[in-house]
Formats: sequence, C-alpha cells, structure tokens
Amino acid sequence: LDPERSRRRVLLKLSGEVFGGGSVGVDPATVRGIAEQIAAVRGQVEVCVVIGGGNFFRGAELSKAGMDRARADYMGMLGTVMNCLALQDFLEQSGQPTRVQTAITMGQVAESYIPLRAVRHMEKGRVVVFGAGAGMPYFSTDTVCAQRALEVGADMILMGKSGVDGVYTADPKADPQAERLEHLSYSDALLRNIRVMDQTAMTMCNDNDLSMRVFGMEGEGNVTRALLGEELGTLVTP
Ligand code: UDP
Repeated sequence: LDPERSRRRVLLKLSGEVFGGGSVGVDPATVRGIAEQIAAVRGQVEVCVVIGGGNFFRGAELSKAGMDRARADYMGMLGTVMNCLALQDFLEQSGQPTRVQTAITMGQVAESYIPLRAVRHMEKGRVVVFGAGAGMPYFSTDTVCAQRALEVGADMILMGKSGVDGVYTADPKADPQAERLEHLSYSDALLRNIRVMDQTAMTMCNDNDLSMRVFGMEGEGNVTRALLGEELGTLVTP
C-alpha cells in the first residue's frame, strides 16, 4: 500500500463472458448482482474496473471468419464499452457514483481516458470503469488491465474468472487430478504455459512488480470479498 494513501486501490478485471450470462449481449440480472457486490465496498476500497468484450465480439475469431483483423478488433473494443455502460448503470442504481472512461473518444457516451482524472475520481470515492481496451487493435483487455493498473497506481489486479476459482496445475474440467495453486509466480506461469492472462500482460506485471489475485466470481459474495482483500483463489506475484 502506498503510504501516502489511506485506502487500498485495486483494479478489478471482469470477463465479458460473465456479463453475457452465457450468451451474446448483456444479462441485466448478472450485471446487477456484480454491481451490488462492488457497491458494497463503497468508501472502503478505491476501485477501477476493466471488462472484457467476449460476450460481443473477439477480434481474433472474426478475423478467422474472414474479417480484417484491425476492424474486427475495433468491434471488440466497442463491445467492451456496452459492458461498461451496463455496469455503470447498475452501480449508480446501487448508490455507487461511477465514471466510464474510454480509450476511443466518444464524448456523448463517456469521458476520455485521462489517468490523473481517473485517480481523482477514485480519491473522491467514485468507481472508474475503463472501456474500449487500449484503443489499439492487436491488444487484449488483459494487457489493458496491466497497463491501467500501473498507470493509476493500483496496489494489485483482481482477476475475476467464471467457471473456475483460481489457477490449477492442469485444466480442472479435463483433469480430475488438477489441484488449485495458492501461489504462483509470473515466471512459473510463463514457463509452464499456464494462461492466467495473456503473456504480454504477465510480462508487464512481472517487470513492473504488480501482483494479481485470480478468483472465481461465482461464489456467494466473492467479488466483495476479493475487493476487501480476502485471500481467495490464487495469488500470482513477480
Ligand atoms: N481489443 C483490442 N484492443 C484492446 C482490447 C480489446 O483490439 O486493447 C479487442 C480484441 O478484439 C478482443 C476484444 O476486444 O478480442 C474483446 O476483448 P477480450 O477478448 O479481451 O475480452 P474477454 O475475453 O476478456 O471477454
């Protein structure tokens, strides 16, 4: 924790798939549940959020189906913005003031990404939701997590997963012997090809001394518990 700061500051990563509740689009009941869990830590933890866009489009998949990769990636980025707006809406309904900042300028919809302003929002108790990825094709929302967390001085990344509650020695769905790891280093994950997040993102976290907790979003109150610093899932450190 930064000694200048009274509260912990975390970046929460949510997968787009969770927002879709298993299909394309946004499942309002699911997003409401997540928003309520974030709003529950109001005033106790400074929170910024990055949401994926897998419930709408993944650039790599569209590109495989014949689209130009960069254009497909822009579609992916625009999808993340819809998730951000949905989360903002339910956070505000839960009494949690929220600002969305996007890496692609769209003034009617959200603020532009301005790091110092994002920090100020968090200091004032607002949640900041970062949308449109890095604004650059060929990047992932994982990489954006690492970059944003570093730039706004987050103490750690909290990576919420669906269908799995941490990092395992093997794929727990395929291998019954798979065991959940309490702790893992980025270099181990890279060496053993464990895809906690993509390699660019892991390298960035490793090189800049940023830790991450990988936890399952399904358990009752898990998002709140992770935000409050409970030791759920797996801790990944440099
Ligand atoms: N994307 C991009 N640049 C970025 C972030 C995202 O091009 O900086 C695009 C990319 O096409 C990606 C899509 O947005 O497939 C959705 O993001 P991601 O796949 O990371 O979402 P998740 O799998 O976490 O839901």
